[in-house]
Amino acid sequence: AVGITLTALRKRYGAGDTAVDALKGVNLHVAPGEVVGLVGPSGSGKSTLLKCLGAVIEPTGGRMAIGGDVIYDDGWKLRDLRALRRDRIGFVFQAPHLIPFLNVTDNVALLPMLAGLSDREARTRAHELLAALDVAHRADALPAQLSGGEQQRVSIARALVNHPPVILADEPTAPLDSVRALSVIRILNAMARRYQTAVIVVTHDEKIIPTFRRIYHIRDGITHEEAGEGRGLE
Ligand code: ADP
Ligand code: ADP
Repeated sequence: AVGITLTALRKRYGAGDTAVDALKGVNLHVAPGEVVGLVGPSGSGKSTLLKCLGAVIEPTGGRMAIGGDVIYDDGWKLRDLRALRRDRIGFVFQAPHLIPFLNVTDNVALLPMLAGLSDREARTRAHELLAALDVAHRADALPAQLSGGEQQRVSIARALVNHPPVILADEPTAPLDSVRALSVIRILNAMARRYQTAVIVVTHDEKIIPTFRRIYHIRDGITHEEAGEGRGLE
């Protein structure tokens, strides 16, 4: 299945007496076009799960498929994880991490340029997304000149610009007020539908938890799926 599928995913840190089983058999599926919440207390395994999905750390067992391809299966792993991260996964962080000396357009156009598009094509694509995210009027500004909400929208544009099948968002709304937090979720839903992206939002932001249709609760390395209250705010 395309989207994200995790089957009995395990992660153990260390070995012997001091080993920590951070993920104890996680099953999770996010369909293309779907935005799913991942919620859990501190120490429950959220960062470990995101790092496995982002191919930053290697799981200990189980299976991980992203965008239709198996990337990890019980010790076997895809060879080119760097290309996977670049082409298949868009990352949205709590703090935007924009490149300070590039203007908004080039912050977004950089990835498609690196992927081989001409500067012109890359900037055109960047502008389409900036317009969809309502920040096209800031195209020539430097990141430091933007408000927090604008910076976060630019970072979402950057995460989407290569049309990755998967977006991983780590507390994307934590520093935003309620109106802007809900706007970020509305945008993620619209973009997920438009580009058929599977989106996981790790959060404990009470402002946005009611918006998810489905939520995975994680506790002590185990996930439980629940129907959410939300309709993704369409
Ligand atoms: P969360 O993001 O939900 O706070 P983490 O994934 O960071 O949870 O942590 C899950 C468990 O794994 C915790 O018990 C934590 O102490 C442990 N852990 C996380 N990273 C490491 C590490 N690098 N080495 C050993 N234990 C770790
Ligand atoms: P939002 O966060 O929803 O984008 P704000 O109310 O924070 O909106 O900002 C409104 C306008 O004020 C923005 O369009 C932005 O250009 C400007 N602005 C806000 N904060 C800053 C800042 N720190 N530096 C420069 N301009 C800012």
